[in-house]
Amino acid sequence: MIFDGHNDVLLKLMVNGGVDKAGSFVTGRDGHIDIPRANIGGFGGGFFALYVRSPLNGKSLDDKYDEMKQPQYDVPLPAPVPQADALPVIMEEIAILLHLQEMGALKICHTADDLRGCFASGQMAAIMHMEGAEAIDAELHTLDVLHAAGLRSLGPVWSRDTIFGYGVPFRFPSDGDIGDGLTEAGFRLVKRCNELGIMLDLSHLNEAGFWDIAKTTDAPLVATHSNVHAICSHARNLTDKQLAAIAESDGMVGLNFACAFLREDGQMDLDTPLDTMLRHLDYMIEKLGEDRVGLGSDFDGAWVPEAITDVAGLNNLRAAMRAHGYDEPLMRKLCHENWLRVLDKTWKE
Ligand SMILES: [Zn+2]
Repeated sequence: MIFDGHNDVLLKLMVNGGVDKAGSFVTGRDGHIDIPRANIGGFGGGFFALYVRSPLNGKSLDDKYDEMKQPQYDVPLPAPVPQADALPVIMEEIAILLHLQEMGALKICHTADDLRGCFASGQMAAIMHMEGAEAIDAELHTLDVLHAAGLRSLGPVWSRDTIFGYGVPFRFPSDGDIGDGLTEAGFRLVKRCNELGIMLDLSHLNEAGFWDIAKTTDAPLVATHSNVHAICSHARNLTDKQLAAIAESDGMVGLNFACAFLREDGQMDLDTPLDTMLRHLDYMIEKLGEDRVGLGSDFDGAWVPEAITDVAGLNNLRAAMRAHGYDEPLMRKLCHENWLRVLDKTWKE
């Protein structure tokens, strides 16, 4: 069974008809994840992102990905999103997640025991994760309410600026050493997340923000969907120094399936062999150890290799991992046990 560090299916369900049409998750839909294909691919759930999309300004998502087919690129970050605009979007996405739970499609997990129960029964497990904290006010009242509603994981930024910090643009080649670290509100956000037992996600943060969290948090450092900078020098990927800090904190990294963060040439090219993913996994295992590596697909949020295509294609990834020599204990760690391990250490209840 694969438990996964990141997907954007809630956003996709919202823009494709909202709560009324969310039943397509159960019966079958376009995109990467639904129940029929999850059953085929052994997808046992993961982090379901609450995410506010920036206005596309007449461009399609394909246009954006076309920019990432240049040999070098630097896609400008969209403007910040005010809290008043973000909050209703997040509420609708949570309503969709609750609706999926009501339909019996998944269980929203609040504790490590909830996760263990799902892993044992085969029920799909969902962690309510927020990618970009635009919906949260500087006084953090919204954070407390969202925690009570089930929020257990939070990325302070999705690349574009928030009142808490600054992220990395979709830039290749580049490291993430771009701009300032956390704001004063950002430091308070980290401390409050520690108190509440909300996992902090370092994916999308710039380096200064990464190091600010590293020196402030009392929890393991986690990047839910990021790759190895030494292999693909994209701004979104983690340098050896960052990987060393994650290992030191006993945290973990989830392998992102997005072609542009996998390939040496940084291209959003679907013709990306599974071997490229194995190179990242080998490197992460070498730097982090077997207990600190997992998967973080970015399904329904990125272009993933043709060899996988959607959750049903996870069977191809598993087969490639086994053929590469990963034994069964290591497979279990990479596929779901490490996520449980790190959440057990991070969540409070
Ligand atoms: Zn992301």
